[in-house]
Amino acid sequence: MKKQLCWALAPLLIFAAACSSDQAGSAEEPERGASQSVESDEQNKGEAEEITEETETVEEEQSSDKKQEVEKAAAEAAAQKRYKLNPANWTLQPVDSQDESKVVLLTIDDAPDQHSLKMAASLKELGAQAIFFVNGHFIDTEEEQKTLKEIHNMGFSIGNHTMTHPNLKGLSEEQQREEIVGLNDKIESIIGERPKFFRAPFGSNTEYSKKLAEEEGMLLMNWTYGYDWEKDYQNKKALTDIMVNSPYLTDGANLLMHDREWTNEALPDIVAGLRDKGYGIIDPEQIQVPERAAQ
Ligand SMILES: [Zn+2]
Repeated sequence: MKKQLCWALAPLLIFAAACSSDQAGSAEEPERGASQSVESDEQNKGEAEEITEETETVEEEQSSDKKQEVEKAAAEAAAQKRYKLNPANWTLQPVDSQDESKVVLLTIDDAPDQHSLKMAASLKELGAQAIFFVNGHFIDTEEEQKTLKEIHNMGFSIGNHTMTHPNLKGLSEEQQREEIVGLNDKIESIIGERPKFFRAPFGSNTEYSKKLAEEEGMLLMNWTYGYDWEKDYQNKKALTDIMVNSPYLTDGANLLMHDREWTNEALPDIVAGLRDKGYGIIDPEQIQVPERAAQ
């Protein structure tokens, strides 16, 4: 009888302990709970965590086939295309007009040079997604290719930023093809997938580069704002401030950053600042992209 009572009380005690530790947690981080901001990506993150927990429980009782099914369903849910690009200003808009969550897209160009891996690790820790726009001349050596694989394996989208970072307007069609399609071949040989996003160096496209991006099933995008290449913003404090308080910050804004020392340093504060202002971070996997033309 005594033993039964213990068993009955045990869950209550665990519950009480969990409640008190929750309270301690939220007292330490009042800003997170207080802000409406984090709604969209925090919610998604919550959902993803729930699915992972479910998977873990199911694991012991059911076959690995079942586990795979659950994982597949989770991946499909995450891959839902919630956003489309507005080519007039490069912002991302929700497909569902009822979707009122405020969001921005983070993009990192000229990757993976010296800082991309650290930037990816910071973003992952914060639960924020991004597109890394890659240049072919940064993925020549085995070491560089390993870095690209790591960034991809951390769950980040890999975009095409051309093989050698030229101004495409100065190139022949054949050269443009090598810059764009050649890079997709190279990236596919390393990570097993072709990029779904294209950004031309300097935002400088030709009719032909637009056609190639479409044929390749890549969504072509420029950006809404970015500052890290300007002299005044090449330090952590100034860059954080302008990225979070820019007059161009709007719902769906497409934020351009680069693989640079000061951007790496500023990135966690930029993400925190954007979330404090009510913006979630878009998962690029949820952006509609064109179908790749039959080869
Ligand atoms: Zn660039």
